[in-house]
Amino acid sequence: MNQSKILVVDDEPITRIDIKETLQGKGYMVVGEARNGEEAVEKAYALDPDLIVMDVKMPKMDGIKASSIIKGFSCCSILLLTAFSHDEVIEQAKEVGINAYIVKPVTEKDLIPAVEIALFQRKQNLLLHKKIGRLEQQMKDRKFIEKAKGILMAQLECTEEQAYRHMQKESMEKHIPLAKLAKDVLEKSK
Ligand SMILES: [Mg+2]
Repeated sequence: MNQSKILVVDDEPITRIDIKETLQGKGYMVVGEARNGEEAVEKAYALDPDLIVMDVKMPKMDGIKASSIIKGFSCCSILLLTAFSHDEVIEQAKEVGINAYIVKPVTEKDLIPAVEIALFQRKQNLLLHKKIGRLEQQMKDRKFIEKAKGILMAQLECTEEQAYRHMQKESMEKHIPLAKLAKDVLEKSK
């Protein structure tokens, strides 16, 4: 049983039912349905799906516009469905970061591999986000440490290396991470 959450969006009820039944038949969890782009944005926000299978041509808001909004707040993958395979639509889909694209009528043979790839991309995307977050934190920490080193050099009238060793020693003795210690040095110097 695949516990990834999928949202199905299409203005035609029959297509929604078809896709939902195909996915459920393969053990996927369909957490919601939407009839247009506006509803898709609302449900993407409320249900936090891993994947959205979405039609392009819909009333109120089309699938491309809805995708561009959803990609702004969610890491979910989006698989677009369309009756047209115009270059223009494909270009727009690429620009908003669509993960997969299949041409209607949707068959199980086309849908399932595309769903699998899009779900895998979602996992990769999450890992990448975590990695970027860690790197950003490391860069911030390094800045704090550099600044604190400068302050200690002035306070203790010592070299850069001595200031760094001083912080390292204190960090080990007090069991405080170096970055936290550096922040404390900066705080105290204010
Ligand atoms: Mg449609």
